[in-house]
Amino acid sequence: MRTIGLIGGMSWESSAEYYRLINQQVRDRLGPLRSARLLMYSVDFGSVEQAQHAGRWDDAAAILVDAARRLQAGGAECVVLCTNTMHKVAEQIQAAIDIPFLHIAEPAAQAALAIDAPTVGLLGTAFTMEQDFLKQRLIARGLTVLVPDEAERQAVHRIIYDELCVGIISDSSRQTYQRVIESLTARGAQAIILGCTEIGLLIKPQHSALPLLDTTELHAQAAVAFALGD
Ligand code: GLU
Repeated sequence: MRTIGLIGGMSWESSAEYYRLINQQVRDRLGPLRSARLLMYSVDFGSVEQAQHAGRWDDAAAILVDAARRLQAGGAECVVLCTNTMHKVAEQIQAAIDIPFLHIAEPAAQAALAIDAPTVGLLGTAFTMEQDFLKQRLIARGLTVLVPDEAERQAVHRIIYDELCVGIISDSSRQTYQRVIESLTARGAQAIILGCTEIGLLIKPQHSALPLLDTTELHAQAAVAFALGD
């Protein structure tokens, strides 16, 4: 089994999910007492979040490049960045290491194509919904990507930072997300990409009429596939 390297902490609420999902999948595939070989380098999200909102992306990249190098030096055989938003600096991270960087958009795109849903709604932080770094990867794989309107994007973004990243799960925020999913559905979305690694803590399959493509789950699966040499 290959050793997975996780860059976590963004937020740790979702990093804990990666840890759980990866180990569950290894157990399911290999047997009850089997578990993943992995390293996690968990950063202080406070510094990353300040850099994001100040537009200091190079500062945020430096923190993550350092984390990736530490994982490689510690024996990790791949790097999994446990956040969609910070894939904005994916190329800088990949360039700093010699081991594969498993991009979060790839398994999401593959999952959409596998269920024949070429038009997807994308939920995530404002950075992810409004900028091109993630959307372009999906579009390059043949998908049409719909994002919520501006007021909806603000609500989705605020709930991520003020609630989901600090462990608050509320019914009213779930209803807000459900309304956003409904308007994306009305505009033609065939599936919803949960393009923020905390959204799966709030929105589960039973909360949506459309299929949900949860990047945390799919990225964890991709990490396990790499580790087990699929
Ligand atoms: N975990 C989130 C994501 O997947 C948001 C936190 C962050 O800004 O990294 O985008």
